[in-house]
Amino acid sequence: MSKPSTKKTKKATAPAKKAAGGKSKIKYTYLFGAKTDGDASLRNLLGGKGANLAEMARIGLPVPPGFTITTEVCTYYYENGKKYPSTLDASVREGVASVEKQMGKLFGDESDPLLFSVRSGARESMPGMMDTILNLGLNDKTVEGLAQKTNNPRFAWDCYRRFIQMYGDVVMGVQAEDESAPDPFHEVMHHLKEELGKKLDTELSVEDLKELVKRYKALIKAKLNKTFPQDVYEQLWGAIGAVFSSWMNDRAIIYRQKYGIPAAWGTAVNVQTMVFGNKGDTSATGVAFTRDPANGENVFYGEYLINAQGEDVVAGVRTPNPIADLKKDMPKAFAQLLDIRKRLEKHFRDMQDFEFTIEENKLFMLQTRNGKRTGLAAVRIAVEMNKEKLMDVKTAVKKIPADSISSLLVPVFDTAAVKKATVLAKGLAAGPGAASGKVVFTASKAELWHTQGVKSVLCREETSPEDLRGMIAAEGILTSRGGVSSHAALVARQMGKVCICGASEISIDYAKRIMTVSGKIIKEGDDISIDGTTGEIFEGEIKTADSEVIRVLSGKLKAEKSYTFQLFNTVMKWADSFRKLGIRTNADSPEQAKMALEFGAEGIGLCRTEHMFFEGDRIDSVREMILATDKSEREAALKKLLPYQRKDFEGIFKAMDGHPVTIRLLDPPLHEFLPHESAARNALAEKMNLPTEVVSERCRALEEQNPMLGHRGCRLGNSYPEITEMQSRAIFEAAANVMKGKKPVKVKAEIMVPLVGFVQELKYQVDIINRVAAEVMKERKVKIDYLVGTMIEVPRGAVTADEIATVAQFFSFGTNDLTQTGLGMSRDDSGSFLGRYKDLDILPKNPFASIDQGGVGQLVKIGVDKGRATKKDLKLGVCGEHGGDPDSITFFHNLGLNYVSCSPPRVPVARLAAAQAALKQA
Ligand code: PEP
Ligand code: MG
Repeated sequence: MSKPSTKKTKKATAPAKKAAGGKSKIKYTYLFGAKTDGDASLRNLLGGKGANLAEMARIGLPVPPGFTITTEVCTYYYENGKKYPSTLDASVREGVASVEKQMGKLFGDESDPLLFSVRSGARESMPGMMDTILNLGLNDKTVEGLAQKTNNPRFAWDCYRRFIQMYGDVVMGVQAEDESAPDPFHEVMHHLKEELGKKLDTELSVEDLKELVKRYKALIKAKLNKTFPQDVYEQLWGAIGAVFSSWMNDRAIIYRQKYGIPAAWGTAVNVQTMVFGNKGDTSATGVAFTRDPANGENVFYGEYLINAQGEDVVAGVRTPNPIADLKKDMPKAFAQLLDIRKRLEKHFRDMQDFEFTIEENKLFMLQTRNGKRTGLAAVRIAVEMNKEKLMDVKTAVKKIPADSISSLLVPVFDTAAVKKATVLAKGLAAGPGAASGKVVFTASKAELWHTQGVKSVLCREETSPEDLRGMIAAEGILTSRGGVSSHAALVARQMGKVCICGASEISIDYAKRIMTVSGKIIKEGDDISIDGTTGEIFEGEIKTADSEVIRVLSGKLKAEKSYTFQLFNTVMKWADSFRKLGIRTNADSPEQAKMALEFGAEGIGLCRTEHMFFEGDRIDSVREMILATDKSEREAALKKLLPYQRKDFEGIFKAMDGHPVTIRLLDPPLHEFLPHESAARNALAEKMNLPTEVVSERCRALEEQNPMLGHRGCRLGNSYPEITEMQSRAIFEAAANVMKGKKPVKVKAEIMVPLVGFVQELKYQVDIINRVAAEVMKERKVKIDYLVGTMIEVPRGAVTADEIATVAQFFSFGTNDLTQTGLGMSRDDSGSFLGRYKDLDILPKNPFASIDQGGVGQLVKIGVDKGRATKKDLKLGVCGEHGGDPDSITFFHNLGLNYVSCSPPRVPVARLAAAQAALKQA
C-alpha cells in the first residue's frame, strides 16, 4: 500500500483558488445527491458504483450525497508519475462544498463534523480487490464534536478507532507481515481486552476506546515514525491516493488478469457522506440481493447486522442475520427495502446486489450493481426474468455467461456415498457443487499443492483478497466465519468454486495446522468433502455423481422431475434459434458420440482414428505395422488392423445415425505407439518372433528430435500409401455395412487428411481415398455419401488455401497445431513460460485455450478467404480446442465459418456462445 507522497499532500492542501487557476475544461468530479451530474450510462467514466449511485439518486432512492472522481483521473495519475490534473484540487473542494451545503455540516468542523467514506469503483466490479476508507474526517477534535452532537461518546470513539485502524492499514501501510502473522491493530485490541478482562468489542467503554485510539496512534508512530494525520484534507487526499494506488495492487492485478479487465480502464473514487449503521439498536447495515445469487430463486436474499458498519458484514467478522429477520427487528425499513428491491429490478432489469445502511431507523442506499451469480443462478434468473417480462429473450440469452452453462453439468456427490459419509459440520451453502480434497490452511500451500497435482480444500477462518491465488488453486473453500456475502462467498461464486461459509462449529488453529470439529481433530493433509449446495462438510473423500441435467439427457431421470433440466433446455432452445454456427463434437468412440448428441451436437467434427489404436490388443498389430521393414510386412499387419477399424467406424456411424462424421486419417508420429520400457519391448519382440535387439533398434530408428514437426500427418500416408488405403477401406466398408444392415443407418462420411501444407500432398491422398471408395461401392453395390477434405493446421496450408481448395471439399482448421506452428510454441511445453507471458501482458490469454486473434486467427482468416475465393461454398469448420472457447467462437462466427467442433461437455457452452456471437453481430 503506497503512502501519499508529500508532494501530493502539499498539492492537496494548497488553497482551492490556486488550483482552480488551471483552464482545463475536463470535468473530473461528478456530483450525486440533491444535484446529480451523472447517470448509469456513464459507467466507463464514473465506474459501476459511481454511475449507479447517480442513477439511484435520479430515480429518487435515498442515497447519501457525494461525488465521484472519474476514471480519467486514475489514467492521468498513472500516466503522469502519480500526479493529479491541476484542476482536481478545486473540483474536489467544490464537491465537498456541495455536500456540506446539502448536509448543513462542514468537513473538519469541530462541533458537528461532516464525515466521508472513500471507495473505489471500476467499470466492472472487483469485489474486495481495492481499498475503502470509512469515517474519514475524524481527528482528536472532531471526535469530541461528534460525541457531543450525537450525545453518544462511545459511538464517536468507536468510529475514530475504526478510522485510525483502516487508515493506518490501507493508506499508511501498517499491516501483518505475512499471512500467518496476526493483524497488528487486532493484536493491540486483543492485548487491551486481555488487560481489561473484556471479551467483546462492545464491552469496551469510552475510556477503553480512548486508550485504544492512543495505542493505535502509538503503533503507527512506532512502525512508521510518522504521526496519524489530523488535517482532514490531508486525510482525504491520502485516502484518494490509496484508492488509486490500489488499482495496481497485487490482488487487483491478479483479478484483472483472471477476468480480462484492461489495466487502462482505471478506477473511479467515490467520496460519499458517511451514514452510520453503528449508532445503536435502531441502526443496522446490510447487503442484499434481489434474488438468490447461489441458485437464482426469486426470493429476497441477504443479511444484516444491527449496530454495525458495512465492513463488518463483508469481512465476516460477525456472522450476520438473514434478511428475513429484519421484518421483526425493523418492520418499517424492511417494508421499504422490499419496495426498493422491486424498483431496482424494474429499473435495472437485472438481479441487483445492493448495500444499505439504516441510521436511526432511516434507510440509505449505498450501492447497487448487477449481482454476481453462479452459473445455475445466471440461467434461472434469465429464464424467470423473461417469464416475468423483465427481459426479452435476446437479452436473456446475452446475459448468461456461456461458460456458466457448464456448471449445470458438473458432478454432484454420489447419493449413496453421501448417505454413508460422516457429516462433520454444516455451514452456509455459498457456492454450489461438490468438491473433495486435502485440507489446507494457507493460500500459498494450496497453490503449491496445485502445482503438484494435489487437490485441496482451502480452510480459513475467513478469507481476504490476499487468499485469491489459493482460492483459484483449491477445489473448494471452507470458512468458519462470515456469511453468504462475505469475501469468500462472493469470490467463490464468481469463480464457480464450491464454497461453504460460516461453519461456526469448526475451530481452526493455524499455528498447529489443525481444525477441531465436534471434538474431532482434522489435520492439514486429511481428506474432506464439501457440498456447496447443502452446506454439508464430510470427513474423507466422497465419490461424485452425474448432475440432474446429465441424468435427464441420458434417460435416467424424467425431464418433468428436474427444474434444472427445464431451465437448461429453455436456454438451449433459445440459443439454437439464434445461432448461425453449426456445433459438432470431437469424439472417438460411440459412447462419446452418444453423449455429444445428447448435448446437442450436430455431427462429429473430428474423430481421431489413432485413439482407437490403443483399445484391446490391437496395439500389437499397430506396432507390427509400424515396425515392418517392407511393404508386404506392413500390409500383413494392416490386414489385421482392418477389421478392428471397420468395427469402430460402424459403431460411430450407428451412434451418429445419419449426422455427418468427420474421420481423420492417422496423424501422430509413429513412435508414439511404440513401447518405451524394455520389458514391453521384450514382450513385443517375442510376439513378433524377432530378436529383442532388432525391435529395440527399429524403435530407436523411429525416434525424432522434433516429432511434432516430423514424420506425421499426411506425410505418413504419403510415405506409406497402404495405411491410407487400409483406413479408407475400413471407413467405406463400415459405411456399406451399416447402410445395408438389418436396421439400415444413413451415413455421411467426411474423410479428412491431416497436416497438409502442399496441395500435392493432399492430391495423392485424395486419389487413394477416391479409388478405394469406388472399389468398395462397386463391390458392395451401394452409393456412399462422402466428402474428402483437409485440415488446415500449418501456416503454409493457410496461405496456399486457394490451391488446396481446388482439391479439398472442405477445410477444418486444426487450431491446436496451427497455434503451435504459427507461434512456434510447443503445445506440450509452453506452460513453462506462458504464465510469465500473461503477467507481462505479452499474451493476455493462453493461446492454446483462446485463439490468438491477431496472429493465428489471421492465418485462419487467410485460409477462409483464399479457400472461398476458389470454392465459394467451401464448408469450413474448426476442430482445435478453441472450438469450445466462447471468445474464439465469436471470432470464428465473425469469420463466417460453418461450424465449430469441441469436446462433448463443451457442446452446450458452444451452442450458447454461438448464439451470443450471432446476437452481438446483429
Ligand atoms: C489440431 O491440431 O487442432 C487438431 C484438432 O488436431 P490434433 O489436436 O489431433 O493435432
Ligand atoms: Mg493437429
